[in-house]
Amino acid sequence: MNIVFLGPPGSGKGTQARRLEAEFKLTHLSTGDIFRDNIAHKTPLGLEIKSLVDAGRLVPDVLVSRMVFEKIASFPRGSGFLLDGYPRTVEQASALDNFEQESGIKIDAVVFLNVDLAELMKRLSSRRSCAKCKEVYSLVNKPPTKEGVCDHCGTQLIERLDDDPAVIQERLKIYNRQTAPVVEFYRTHPTFCQVNGAQDIESVYTEMNTALNALRKGKKA
Ligand code: AMP
Repeated sequence: MNIVFLGPPGSGKGTQARRLEAEFKLTHLSTGDIFRDNIAHKTPLGLEIKSLVDAGRLVPDVLVSRMVFEKIASFPRGSGFLLDGYPRTVEQASALDNFEQESGIKIDAVVFLNVDLAELMKRLSSRRSCAKCKEVYSLVNKPPTKEGVCDHCGTQLIERLDDDPAVIQERLKIYNRQTAPVVEFYRTHPTFCQVNGAQDIESVYTEMNTALNALRKGKKA
């Protein structure tokens, strides 16, 4: 199954995507993780986009779309994938539509994790991440067992530069202006499903799984 995850920053896309990836053996493609890795390794791409990502601004559409399509084309045919953080503008959603038509690779489900603004602010300001294995923690809802250390790989946890309060405001503004219209772009598609992302991690996963199973069987939840 090929899945697109939509939702504002802090809605839990990464957390839920990692769980689906493990349970359904899907390839998880997080554009944000790819950009952060490139920035950390100071690659030409990383140097080009660092100032944009650090400021919470979007990377140009053409650059992101090209990168995503190249990655998808490199996946073994028939193995499922999960797009986390793409598409983020209506231009990217249209480019993905064209890519589907040209390549014959179809998106089977578009999952929108809906979370209100107050909850997002709380989550983003308490978020800690592992730069190595990408696990995400919350000091409020999902703290690591040992303070400041990743449970999975023992790496020191970091606070993302773009989780700074001023940058969070900018990212949410950009979300409302450029990414919320993507939700409307997909809302009437038969593959669209909305999940209440404000619940605890387990309940979000259960609701999402029910919706995905219904889509798999051709019955929308
Ligand atoms: P994320 O980890 O998904 O919150 O992404 C972190 C940052 O990477 C964003 O704030 C953008 O600067 C950049 N980014 C990730 N995905 C995209 C995208 N689809 N289009 C443009 N910029 C992106």
